[in-house]
Amino acid sequence: MKRSMVYLVGAGPGDPKLITIKGMECIKKADIIIYDYLVNVELLRGARPDVEFIYVGKQGGAHTLSQEEINKLLVKKAQGDKIVTRLKGGDPYVFGRGGEEALVLFENHIPFEVIPGITAAIATPNYAGIPVTHRDFTSTFGLITGHEDPTKDESSIDWAKISTGVGTLAFYMGIKNLPYITGQLIKHGRDKDTPVAVIRWGTTSRQKTVVGTLSTIVQIAKDIKPPAITIVGEVVKLRDQLNWFETKPLFGKTIVVTRSREQASDFADKLYEHGAHVIEFPTIEIAKPDDVKPLDDAIKVIHTFNWLVFTSTNGVDCFFQRLFELGRDVRDLKGLKLCAIGPATEEGIKKYYIKVDCRPPKFVAESVVEELKKVTPIKGESFLLPRADIARSFLPEELQKLGGKVTDLVAYKTIMAKPKDVDLVEKAKNGEINIITFTSSSTVRNFIQIVGEKNLAALNGRVQYASIGPITTQTAEEMGLHISIAADEYTIPGLVNAILENVVSQK
Ligand code: SAH
Repeated sequence: MKRSMVYLVGAGPGDPKLITIKGMECIKKADIIIYDYLVNVELLRGARPDVEFIYVGKQGGAHTLSQEEINKLLVKKAQGDKIVTRLKGGDPYVFGRGGEEALVLFENHIPFEVIPGITAAIATPNYAGIPVTHRDFTSTFGLITGHEDPTKDESSIDWAKISTGVGTLAFYMGIKNLPYITGQLIKHGRDKDTPVAVIRWGTTSRQKTVVGTLSTIVQIAKDIKPPAITIVGEVVKLRDQLNWFETKPLFGKTIVVTRSREQASDFADKLYEHGAHVIEFPTIEIAKPDDVKPLDDAIKVIHTFNWLVFTSTNGVDCFFQRLFELGRDVRDLKGLKLCAIGPATEEGIKKYYIKVDCRPPKFVAESVVEELKKVTPIKGESFLLPRADIARSFLPEELQKLGGKVTDLVAYKTIMAKPKDVDLVEKAKNGEINIITFTSSSTVRNFIQIVGEKNLAALNGRVQYASIGPITTQTAEEMGLHISIAADEYTIPGLVNAILENVVSQK
């Protein structure tokens, strides 16, 4: 029996991978997700396709809903045996008004659970190279709201006690009040030379950290806007040695991945590991061919071929999917030899527990022919090439010229993806995009079509374009995009390396 349930979930401080496993499970099973401004929206991609999203963010003074209205919404949405996941930045119970929301649920007899999250005061200093406690510096750590109205007659913060009684102090929501906060601490006996760090958008690629002392930080942090956390204490000094995140090579860079959603994650993960902020902007979608009969016919007589040549992982997956759909399996491939254009395609084949017999050192069609020639006579051999509808004609033509019997057929088609809800042009104009990557000619063509040719002028000069290989580069250059980063090895790791080298050389 299904019944109402509300999960108050801490989404963590910004880096989407810092949510808990339990928190992620609550996103996956939600019927309705109600989320805040500080929640990284990438987390929402883990939700079911039919989920209802409700944004109730409060950004500075601009509130979409008051807290009172949010409370009512929670109660209303939980009716009808729904699972409601209420996603909040950091931890729900740390200055997140999660306590109030839980009490409202209790009063309305709605079952609830509260899933902790990593709070900003712990995660953001860490990502800025600051451990909040360290035996040599402090044994106490305090979390304080910096939001208090300084004109209030009576402060609920005992400044005299916290100023000297607690080692590390973390002030949430304290940017506007920074002069008041530092003033109170000095007035109540904290050394004016105590180190202070202010960290904005911590744990994300937009993270910005400034460091000073109680007497200098107001001036140093004058351009820092919320959301930011202020860390006061001797531990701030450790940043010189422990700054592991901001020193990553791609830290501060925003990179756009244009390949299909199915293929993006591998690439995006590698860029993320090097500290980049990745925007997935799929330009292609993979679909079944309009006519599957040629593929079906080939599969029915698969034993008559000598070679099965794959030039993409999509080709591999679509071929095997159809093989299984026709009630067959890998045993029907016995005796066939397999060729893969590159390592990713080879990995794709290995997933089906099949060894590859031929893989060229350079991952282009020209190189496939050369390598095949080394391992087999081409003349008289029959080759099956399950490929994309828009694949180049070079490979089948060349094999035919050499006397091979070639069946080149469409195993999948690529269609242009619907434009995503990201205004790349606007972002590029604001200097928020550094590199746009292309991993095939069709990503270039579709990208230009989605963005619109007239908008390219706004991108050119503001962003760098990166290409996986010579064919893609040629297409891009012909269409007016200057490729300034080109992979030496025509693979995703090769492209990641080229980006790393380029960024490092500019530093
Ligand atoms: N429940 C949240 C805090 C909500 S109050 C938590 O546990 O982290 C909002 C304040 O948290 C912001 O004004 C800022 O001071 C701090 N904050 C949250 N996320 C932050 C981030 N990524 N970087 C810096 N400060 C952050």
